[in-house]
Amino acid sequence: MAKNFSHLWLDGEIIPWEEGKIPLMSHTLHYGLGVFEGVRFYEALDGCAIFRLEDHLKRLFDSAEFYGLKIPFSSEILLQGCVDLVKKFEVKNGYLRLLVYFDSGGLNIFPKGSGLRVMIAGFKWDPYFGTRGRSEGIRVKISPWQKFSSNSLPSNVKVCGQYVNSVLASIDAKMSGFDEAILLNEKGELAEGSIQNLFLVKDGVLMTNDEEDCILLGITRETILYLAKNLGFQTEIRSLSLKDLESADEVFFTGTASEVLPIWEVDDKLFAGGSCGEMTLSLQKAYFDGVSGRRKDCSQFLTFV
Ligand code: PMP
Repeated sequence: MAKNFSHLWLDGEIIPWEEGKIPLMSHTLHYGLGVFEGVRFYEALDGCAIFRLEDHLKRLFDSAEFYGLKIPFSSEILLQGCVDLVKKFEVKNGYLRLLVYFDSGGLNIFPKGSGLRVMIAGFKWDPYFGTRGRSEGIRVKISPWQKFSSNSLPSNVKVCGQYVNSVLASIDAKMSGFDEAILLNEKGELAEGSIQNLFLVKDGVLMTNDEEDCILLGITRETILYLAKNLGFQTEIRSLSLKDLESADEVFFTGTASEVLPIWEVDDKLFAGGSCGEMTLSLQKAYFDGVSGRRKDCSQFLTFV
């Protein structure tokens, strides 16, 4: 079996990592027109399993279609590519990054439509804010950068270029001594983290916002809403204000890379007594049980390798 970081899947072939190169005149490199997905795989009870791969592939195809990009492979071929790549690793817990990009296309802003390629990279990726962040939570800042409005860019697709908005918010948060940022939308309401959806808990009710608030409808968000329902928690989906945040009992982020991430402080205000709240903890546990094959109600989400 090959070592971590050793191979890539590129246009149907598994190649050594070092052979994955992007031409300098790639339209994607200059203008950000590419679509991508991040997927995690976990060591599950019955072997290594990729979590919600089919849903991530669906979103990849939807993102591409939105921008008029025709992915030159079927979803089945990409699914098999992910499985083949994970099989080559020693690591059983990791992350897959799928990227659809132009290797040429010229410098006209209008993409000429040729040279669309697909890359899948796999690597070990520890919890996004370390195991400590995952268990104890993180400190977050309300960003001075606004989440782009859906009149500028659609928030519910994953196109490379739009992520500079997240990068700005993340740089500002780190430079100010915080771990992560929450961006507000143009209405001044809560949008999401740089790469995470946001959940609040108030008086035992789990709340999150929706696409109208300029967010990506995260797959982890959907999993958490599904688990919450199965655990008997009351849920509410609506726009959330800064006031809702201030009065919340618990706050957490969700995302494929970030998983279920408690937030114990936002701009000097502590939540859940400065630790991980009770509902956050039970949803986090249910999530990790789900990804690792310990919950029957999540078995349909697992693609075994
Ligand atoms: N919002 C943004 C902006 C993101 O980039 C991500 C990560 N894909 C999320 C939310 C969470 O989405 P998911 O749970 O599908 O990873």
